[in-house]
Amino acid sequence: MSVRPVLRFAPSPNGELHLGHAVSAWIGSDMARRLGGRFLLRIEDIDIARCREAYITQMYEDLRWLGIEWEEPVMRQSERFATYGRASDMLLKLGLLYPCFATRSEIAEATKSNPEARDPDGAPLYPGLHKHLAPEEIAARLARKEPFALRFHMDRALSSLEQITGSRRVTFTELDAEGVPVRIECDPAVWGDAVVVRKDVPASYHLAVTIDDAAQGVTHVTRGRDLFAATSLHRLLQALLGLPEPLYHHHPLLNDATGRKLSKSDGDTSLRELREASADVLQLRRHLLFATANTENAIPRPP
Ligand code: GLU
Repeated sequence: MSVRPVLRFAPSPNGELHLGHAVSAWIGSDMARRLGGRFLLRIEDIDIARCREAYITQMYEDLRWLGIEWEEPVMRQSERFATYGRASDMLLKLGLLYPCFATRSEIAEATKSNPEARDPDGAPLYPGLHKHLAPEEIAARLARKEPFALRFHMDRALSSLEQITGSRRVTFTELDAEGVPVRIECDPAVWGDAVVVRKDVPASYHLAVTIDDAAQGVTHVTRGRDLFAATSLHRLLQALLGLPEPLYHHHPLLNDATGRKLSKSDGDTSLRELREASADVLQLRRHLLFATANTENAIPRPP
């Protein structure tokens, strides 16, 4: 019996949706329709300080206006911290995570001498400040209730990966714009000791997205090219947590007239403004999907 494909759109309600989100939602829902699959919506609201209920309400209105249909119930990550906690406990017990109490400014200070060492998102690579804290020091800091993040002990995580898969690298299948599969091999170590559980919330984007794609039975992850490099971390987490491997399609990002990537933080036109101005949604769809298909189309080189 063949399994019906499951696709999803997973926005974060920390601002208004913009044109880039419309492209992403259409690409995912079009692919679901083409494959005869299901289309789900997931609200990625782990960032409780920045996410707003009003953005979620608006998001539903925007997506309906775009003609997107999704199955109920909608998953909300803010309701799933206990599930993420169980997974991080397991990784911690395996010795694959360690607590890092370092503050932003301590990390910034320690990375000053090596500004070239950056992760694929351009953030300074964690210099291993608290990687080797003595157990007594950890206990003392915990007793003082110092906030901490949990970071991958990347070398140990890769050794576990090797025991499971026979390799310290990960692979995934990327579907190109025509749906042709390309096997990608990449190295999660380029992320260094990445944060798996943030200081402020009991999860991280990487942990939550990996667990939830598996929990929702997602077979095809469609999302923007800006998340292509993060897939190596997601594949590592899938292997360590025993979760299935979905297919991936990282679509090109929509650029503005100057070639700059659109983003909500730059104050680009929001879908709400267009909706309230009664913009022609079909024309918008044709224009944006055409523009996206004609941006640089090569699958990025793996980090
Ligand atoms: N929540 C993420 C975002 O809005 C997308 C996550 C994903 O599709 O994997 O950028």
